[in-house]
Amino acid sequence: MAAFRPPLVDSSRIRALAVAHLDNAGISRLKLLPQHKVSSAGSKGATMSLSVGMLFSVDDHVNSVPELDATVGDLRAVPDMSAVALLDEQRGLAWAPADIRSLDGSPHSTCQRSLLAAVDARARQAGLDFLVGFEIEFTLFTGTKAAPVLAHTGPGYGMLPFLELESWHLDLLDALAIAGVPAEQLHPEYGPGQLELSLAPRPAVRAVDDYVLARQVITRVSQAHGLLVSFAPVPVVGAIANGCHVHLSATRDGRPVFHDPGQPTGFSPEAGHLVAGVLEHLDEGVALLGGSTLSFERLRPHNWAGAYVCWGTGNREAAVRYMPGAAGFGGEQSNIEIKCVDPAANQYLAVAALMGSALDGLDRRLPLPAEVQVEPGTLGEAERAAGRVRPFPPDLGAALQLLAGSPFFAELLGPVLHSSYCAVRQHDWETFGTRPPADVAAAVRWRF
Ligand code: GLU
Ligand code: MG
Repeated sequence: MAAFRPPLVDSSRIRALAVAHLDNAGISRLKLLPQHKVSSAGSKGATMSLSVGMLFSVDDHVNSVPELDATVGDLRAVPDMSAVALLDEQRGLAWAPADIRSLDGSPHSTCQRSLLAAVDARARQAGLDFLVGFEIEFTLFTGTKAAPVLAHTGPGYGMLPFLELESWHLDLLDALAIAGVPAEQLHPEYGPGQLELSLAPRPAVRAVDDYVLARQVITRVSQAHGLLVSFAPVPVVGAIANGCHVHLSATRDGRPVFHDPGQPTGFSPEAGHLVAGVLEHLDEGVALLGGSTLSFERLRPHNWAGAYVCWGTGNREAAVRYMPGAAGFGGEQSNIEIKCVDPAANQYLAVAALMGSALDGLDRRLPLPAEVQVEPGTLGEAERAAGRVRPFPPDLGAALQLLAGSPFFAELLGPVLHSSYCAVRQHDWETFGTRPPADVAAAVRWRF
């Protein structure tokens, strides 16, 4: 794990605390607590209606499921004060991720963050310490929400877009350091207007907290520069899509399981079961890894989005890309990169789904399919069968059918979270599934 210590926040300096919850639509919702509430926030939290917490879709439509009565129910969003971060040092504006509790204080069965903590605890019980890292892609615009203009014209990874947006880059790195977000790299990405921030690996819950916080910091700094930012998977149809690749690594007794140069794969047999588990559940779980109508516009071959369920060393068209890491690091950098994830996901659920699948592969000692070292679309039938290579479901509707019918994910999420998540995303599909992608992008571009 990177040696990174976030700055301690002295709570007497907090004048306002944003208690944040990432909902089933992948949207951050908040309650802002004034200064006099901060000292008791960690025990009392803030009231949040069931519908806001669990049942809102991307367009704020309130869904209903038999298991949750949204009309009468309330929840508590209780901030984890060990993860509090400063958004604005001068003004004392702080942020903290919330766990969702029932009014009696007990953990609520729909809390996405608590689910991830439980899956991570299960991994540790099995002797595995996971670390999670994110690559956050997003698109910057000048102009207005009604008439946005891509904020740079490339070239991809170029000095020129960096120089054009130099003070934005430097202000962002400063603001991330103040917030305690472990930034690893920042660069103009391949697409016009696109940028990418990668975060150092951290334990699962903290990694997702960092990810959610990083998005708020990016938005604040961009606003201060008069820029608009979109985290939609496809902010503009025809432009390069935004992914949110998840890097998973794990150690057992301090030794990286994704590093074993003595094996033909490069990783241990145990890691082979973890990869097999991820692949086993990837089709039925893909609606948890993005889950917006637009996600499936991105999940196409040649987007480097990992549009095929398969694995391969370094392979950008495989959903699971094995990264051996550079020589000389003793396997410290070795990990698997799950490329099919996008920024419309609830990342607590996405990572819980991936780690839960990996652990299932280990429990069942699932065999590792053959590696795919080429563009998967070019494979013949026999090679496809050996690698168990398959495309993802073609759209959100098909993906949700698989998720809704999945006993594995019903058990992992629990019945209430499983059905609320499916209902929230089903509304997205019913609202946007038949509309032209450009209209959908225009409708949700500023929602995430
Ligand atoms: N923008 C691509 C995606 O949608 C990823 C490009 C890359 O490999 O960084 O996932
Ligand atoms: Mg990238």
